[in-house]
Amino acid sequence: MSFERQPSCQDPQESNALMPVAEARERLRQRLRVVQESESLPLQDCLNRVLAEHVISPIDVPSHTNAAMDGYAIQAADLPASGATTQLDIVGESWAGRPWTRVMLRGQAVKIATGAVMPAGSDTVVIVEHTQREGDKVELGDDTSPGRNVRHAGEDLKQGEAVLSAGTWLTPAEIGQLASLGFAQVLVKRRLKVAVFSTGDELVSLANNEHKPLEAGQVFDSNRYTLCAMLQRLGVEVIDLGVVADSADATRDVFQRAADSADAVVSSGGASVSDADHVSRTLGELGDVAFWRLAMRPGRPLACGDVSGALFFGLPGNPVAVMVTFYQFVQPALRHMMGCTVAEPLLFKARSTATLRKSAGRVEYQRGILAINADGQMTVSTTGKQGAGRISSMTRANCFIVLPPELESVEQGDLLDVQPFEGLV
Ligand code: AMP
Ligand code: MG
Repeated sequence: MSFERQPSCQDPQESNALMPVAEARERLRQRLRVVQESESLPLQDCLNRVLAEHVISPIDVPSHTNAAMDGYAIQAADLPASGATTQLDIVGESWAGRPWTRVMLRGQAVKIATGAVMPAGSDTVVIVEHTQREGDKVELGDDTSPGRNVRHAGEDLKQGEAVLSAGTWLTPAEIGQLASLGFAQVLVKRRLKVAVFSTGDELVSLANNEHKPLEAGQVFDSNRYTLCAMLQRLGVEVIDLGVVADSADATRDVFQRAADSADAVVSSGGASVSDADHVSRTLGELGDVAFWRLAMRPGRPLACGDVSGALFFGLPGNPVAVMVTFYQFVQPALRHMMGCTVAEPLLFKARSTATLRKSAGRVEYQRGILAINADGQMTVSTTGKQGAGRISSMTRANCFIVLPPELESVEQGDLLDVQPFEGLV
């Protein structure tokens, strides 16, 4: 669909011309292409990268049957009857990395450390706390059942078993698992290149202007810093194109430079319909518009489409709208392009601590503070005034409160959907 043909373009104030978020997500999904190229990297450089191949375990994990606790390796047949004790001969020691290599017989025990290989002939570990040593003998009670405290070869993973699938986002847990399997090099998708620029005649670049008094109407260009930070977390290569003036020529020029150098382009500001807004218009001229006005708040003027093979997101200028639209649209889209299997974000239910203002017709992403009350219930309170320019509402919040379009009001005690900002791993 072209920019001109979207009916809302004729009358930007007409609320029924706003596109529902679900429809916009579907249009975006149809445009996403996954990067094809991959590269082999040292494992320590693979954090936040996307696995480009299925990983099959080359070994059993653990590779040898070993002790899960410090104690004595014995034969289950030597365990005493209920209420009784027994004494066994200590015939050796097995340490992690230094196994005892002989065969253990009935009536014998081998002192063993956590992770040490179980001696041939043994099948049970009695933990040291349940034993009493007397010289070269050890006395056991009836606390241990046969087979206890032993980790069997292959019980975590069998050789040849599928471990991680292509498309897995590599977090510290996956890095550790790959290391445990002996992989020093890993095939990952190449990094996505994302170009970023800010638009606005009022913007003052931080470079060389730190603490400079602002003239009337000027603001520091904060969005580029927010965007670059959000993109860095995604592990993409950021191409920073700076600040662009509110002019059609400058906007056309930066569009072309951005599209030539990147897989995706993210701009902020100038996406709406005033004479000073050139982003949506330029996207319509040079590219192909998927959508540009959404039924969401904040984030109504969000232009999305393609320019010369690059996916383009023209985010609104208001700092909170930048973050909301990034997390709701840009981040999942970029993850998909990276070849990553994208999971739907987890929504939790929390009780509202107060009434909230909400108007019908648009999905709202209000900023909230999740907490656990004295009854152990999850509650959510608002960060206060929800203006899209108040970036302090983001720094105070730890979640988005997601209010669906049809909702007209929120009362204290209502169960609301919340989307926490932080995942643990
Ligand atoms: P716009 O979408 O261009 O109409 O901008 C909406 C509001 O966001 C205006 O108040 C702008 O001054 C502000 N704004 C736009 N770009 C930025 C930026 N890069 N950093 C901080 N504020 C911005
Ligand atoms: Mg502007």
